[in-house]
Amino acid sequence: MSIRTRFAPSPTGYLHVGGARTALFSWLYARKHGGRFILRIEDTDIERSSIDSVNAILEGMTWLGLEYDEGPIYQTERFNRYHEVLQQLLDSGNAYRCYCTKEELEQMRARQKARKEKPRYDGRCRSGAGPREGVEPVIRFRNPLEGAVVVDDMVRGRIVFANSELDDLIIARSDGTPTYNLTVVVDDLDMGVTHVIRGDDHINNTPRQINILRALGAEPPRYAHVPMILGDDGKRLSKRHGAVSVMQYREGGYLPQALLNYLVRLGWSHGDRELFTVDEMIELFDIRDVNRAASTFNSEKLLWLNHQYIMNSPPEQVAHHLSYHMGRLGIDPADGPPLTEVVKAQRERTRTLVEMARNSAFFYREFEEYDAKAARKNLKPEAVEPLGDMLENFRTLPDWSGEAIHRIVRETAELRGLKLGKVAQPLRVAVCGGAVSPPIDVTLELLGRERTIRRMERAIAWIAGQNAVATQSDSG
Ligand code: GLU
Repeated sequence: MSIRTRFAPSPTGYLHVGGARTALFSWLYARKHGGRFILRIEDTDIERSSIDSVNAILEGMTWLGLEYDEGPIYQTERFNRYHEVLQQLLDSGNAYRCYCTKEELEQMRARQKARKEKPRYDGRCRSGAGPREGVEPVIRFRNPLEGAVVVDDMVRGRIVFANSELDDLIIARSDGTPTYNLTVVVDDLDMGVTHVIRGDDHINNTPRQINILRALGAEPPRYAHVPMILGDDGKRLSKRHGAVSVMQYREGGYLPQALLNYLVRLGWSHGDRELFTVDEMIELFDIRDVNRAASTFNSEKLLWLNHQYIMNSPPEQVAHHLSYHMGRLGIDPADGPPLTEVVKAQRERTRTLVEMARNSAFFYREFEEYDAKAARKNLKPEAVEPLGDMLENFRTLPDWSGEAIHRIVRETAELRGLKLGKVAQPLRVAVCGGAVSPPIDVTLELLGRERTIRRMERAIAWIAGQNAVATQSDSG
């Protein structure tokens, strides 16, 4: 049997982390078994669906690298097929028209409640109600009255639903449009889906869907219901807990590989291992090993993982993502050193690409002003002489290399009888505007001779300016 899985989002918002994890599990399962992964857009709720949401979902999947083999298939393009199946169910007696009015259904519910029964449709149109003036009928599925539906869920284990607990659900509304449970069944059937991997909020739909499939003469697929994700307060993860949209993590400076690695570990584990490349996930993941209890989202751990990926991924790959964040700062990476070199210089000390971009902007454009604290501490009159010494040497340095730069800094300190920091730190603030940067030799080499010299001149002038102001206010 060749495995076919699907991800079936309703386009009523962005791709959130819960959906992304479901998509990842479905994708991994297909990849692991050499099967196919289908993307189906469940857009029949016209009111709540939007093209923007579809695009946001596609964008999220692309960014994560969850490429689909078939689709996107839009349910709104399949109405003819749904009507065909509705007719087939009516013809075979597995569905019937129900002419109950809203008022009648409300009364029915009220009486059931008064008797402390579970509210459900009592099947009064089951044996063939005739058309009624002014009532557009709905279509209901004739659910079996006896027996049980057994679901051997790949995550939850065996779940048994008694048919007596299920009522005759509506499969087409009075305006003729099919409902969710019908469209899902028709699609899973037509698309040959072998494994339905989805959120456990759909568990109660499963026996209904299985009964409809059987009425259509089909064998149901296997099901795997993935538990939900909780916020750190134990409540279902939502906007209240911070970023929940996949693309917000892109904006926040996360690498897609880090988010994937984080998501795969939400409810799944392999020993005590934390880091998995995508290939390793494909090799090791098994939907049967997914935990049946809900998992808690932990932003700190995601940040830790992101740092691991920033440090250990090929620098070209990190640079590719960093260039997006540089662009957001209005920086063209062509205006400075190669991004891959900047990544190598910065990766140990930055946990997000937003941070890396911000801390690397000075390589590409002039900074506006010095960090006040760093300047107060380091750009003082006594820094002028060592800065001047180094400036002269830098102008004539035959080869602009980290090694040669380092030698000049060291010799300047020795010559002036200063600690290395007293020389290197003013230099650092002079060239990058703040007290934090990669090692000074690496920083200067990447920055280039011309920019270094200009910024040192600027710093010397700035110190003189500060000094003049100070002298003025002393004498005034
Ligand atoms: N469209 C449904 C949802 O977004 C998923 C249905 C399914 O996976 O069967 O919740």
